[in-house]
Amino acid sequence: MADPMEWPSELNRHMERMPHSRVGAAVAVAIAAGLLGAASLPHWLTVVLALCLGALGYFVVAMPVMQTDLALRESERKFRHFVDQSLVGLYVVQDGNIVYANSKSADLLGYDSPEELVGTPVARVTHPDDLLLLQENHRRRLAGEVQSLRYAYRGLRRDGRVIWVDVHGSACEYEGRPAIMGVALDVSQQVEFEHQSRLANRVFDSASEGIVITDAQCRIEAVNPAFTRITGYSATEATGKFSRMMTGHGAELNHDMLAHLARDGHWQGEMLDRRKSGDWYPAWLSISTVRDADKNITNYVGVFTDNTSRKEVETRLQFLASHDSLTGMLNRNGMMARFAQQIEAARAADRQISVLFIDLDRFKTVNDTLGHLAGDQLLVSAADRLLRQLREGDIAARLGGDEFTVLLEDPPSSTMAGELAERVIASMAQPFTIDGQEMFVTASIGIACHPADGHDADTLLKNADVAMYRAKQRGRNTYQFFTADMNTRAFEQLLLENSLRHALERGEFELHYQPQLCTATGTIAGVEALIRWRHPELGLVLPGTFISLAEQNGLIVPIGAWVLQAACRQAREWTDAGFRFGHVAVNLSAKQFSSGDLLDTIRCALDRSGLPASLLELEITESTIMHNPPEALLLLERIRDMGVALSIDDFGTGYSSLASLKQYPLDSLKIDRSFVKGIPNDADDVAITEAIIAIAHKMRLKVVAEGVETVEQAEFLRKAGCDMAQGYLLGRPMAAAEVARQFPSS
Ligand code: C2E
Ligand code: MG
Ligand code: MG
Repeated sequence: MADPMEWPSELNRHMERMPHSRVGAAVAVAIAAGLLGAASLPHWLTVVLALCLGALGYFVVAMPVMQTDLALRESERKFRHFVDQSLVGLYVVQDGNIVYANSKSADLLGYDSPEELVGTPVARVTHPDDLLLLQENHRRRLAGEVQSLRYAYRGLRRDGRVIWVDVHGSACEYEGRPAIMGVALDVSQQVEFEHQSRLANRVFDSASEGIVITDAQCRIEAVNPAFTRITGYSATEATGKFSRMMTGHGAELNHDMLAHLARDGHWQGEMLDRRKSGDWYPAWLSISTVRDADKNITNYVGVFTDNTSRKEVETRLQFLASHDSLTGMLNRNGMMARFAQQIEAARAADRQISVLFIDLDRFKTVNDTLGHLAGDQLLVSAADRLLRQLREGDIAARLGGDEFTVLLEDPPSSTMAGELAERVIASMAQPFTIDGQEMFVTASIGIACHPADGHDADTLLKNADVAMYRAKQRGRNTYQFFTADMNTRAFEQLLLENSLRHALERGEFELHYQPQLCTATGTIAGVEALIRWRHPELGLVLPGTFISLAEQNGLIVPIGAWVLQAACRQAREWTDAGFRFGHVAVNLSAKQFSSGDLLDTIRCALDRSGLPASLLELEITESTIMHNPPEALLLLERIRDMGVALSIDDFGTGYSSLASLKQYPLDSLKIDRSFVKGIPNDADDVAITEAIIAIAHKMRLKVVAEGVETVEQAEFLRKAGCDMAQGYLLGRPMAAAEVARQFPSS
């Protein structure tokens, strides 16, 4: 940079050429400009600028009166020194080029010295986007449209960096031609600051979170629109008040929170806040402290969100985890949690609790025959009936499937649980109408009481379950209180299951045969093979005791295969002995039907025994078919193709209609003995039996009546056109040798 002390530099020469009065006028304008601009500049800068420009003005204005060269030179030297040392950039632009610049201008634009900058086109040191603005501003002043102009634009430093420059200049004459003379200040920091604060304002205004800014005493200084939206209080209403978020809802300051803030500078947590409307809402609040240079807290900034919807989702999730989605009742989890609490409370207060375990009878049949949708509707209706029987405070739950429980806290008398059970049973007695179809479902209920029958939820529930099982065994549609000996029975059941697993390999099963007679002629039309278990200790066990157990644990598949083999072998022996017994009927369980190897099992039984397929009939129930109709149809057709006859057992107990059975390749149907029982006195049973016979015949199905015990029944059935009859009247199930005595031989 040139030494300011020894400059006969360019400006000096320009000044010599330039009338002093003009220079003075131009500089005076610059001074005015500097002073005008100072109003918005930082204080220190204003002072320096004023000093500099003041001095500049003084020397310029004083110059014409200094007569001697020495004085003039001295004045010039000082002037140049001030100009050069000035903290603002000074420049003269002519014909689009910089013709004068001081050191600060060079510094501003990243040039090493003013000499380097002089001669540079303005376009080179101006951001292209602002060049037009700059040129237009020059034009306006040179054309005399305005005296002076002040504006900010983006300058380009030599290294390519962009800076914001605030310029204030006026038109002047330089070397006898028009030029622009002005002062320039780097305001990049200011612009950046303004940009930041604009951004901060926008964030403040548009944030979806409520923002509240308080002073150090927690008095609100500012709130954003989201604050108003969430709380209902406008900025005017809120400003000046104590922030409730920081003071809590009493007038007391929340000292704990403030102490935490003073220590950590930050606090966050959930709190209940109140809207202007008076409604409470959960708010998630996060507060930070703002400190001054001396580390004193000056402000608190609180940011909060309305947590209502998140809370709702949480509550909903909690509800779903503890409730049954179908009935809206508590589920097992929810019930067990409540049960444990109730027991705890009952123990402390020396109170009693009764738990009812309710199981719907025959629900599975509805589900299997009418489908899950109908099953669900039935469950909803049953749950509704159950709830109607309860007092306030009683807790009901669906444990799953068709199992429900009710907790009765502190029943005033021990019979109260029994009375409730009776009411529940009675409420289920009315027919349910699902999809326009009437159906009947009953309930079996077991009751256990705290503390007599158990001290914890699991034991009580298990014992109520055992009692319910007992109710089922006693014919269903009834209730039982738990007694200690029931557990002994449950234990026996367990032993039974264990011994059932070995029964097959130990050869403990045998088949009895019950004759089926032709009603018209009284001759043997067939025999039904019925399994018995010759238990080493229990004696002859009937299938009612173990078939459902075998179905549950899957043993029914190998047991069923054994029955098929044994029945076919026996029938083949009878054939070989020349007996005419019609056909042998074998019962199939639904489990066998869906086991996948049924066809092979049948084929194997026929092949091994050598029994003609036409002498074998398989009995299936309605629910077996309805469980999986398309697969069932395929399987039945394959069985039929083998030449084996098919009959529907226990017809009338499921919910299938005769019309729906039409599509299956059936040969006969067996009217369930519950209908035969009422014949000939029960008008309903009579009508149903007659209708079944008539429609079955139309569908070319033979009809067998089960459970014929009286002569009247047999006579009625014969007259009604029933093809065959089976029952104690005509012959009990008996051993093979015994039944063979009734067979005519050919
Ligand atoms: P089911 O197939 O309906 O068999 C008829 C049942 O009615 C037999 O009971 C029979 O003894 C009984 N019964 C026959 N006539 C009369 C009567 O006049 N009055 C009364 N009250 N009952 C009569 P059982 O032998 O106890 O068999 C019960 C059920 O066990 C059978 O009902 C059948 O569903 C099942 N079952 C029997 N053997 C087998 C088998 O080998 N495999 C499968 N899967 N189930 C079998
Ligand atoms: Mg049968
Ligand atoms: Mg039957």
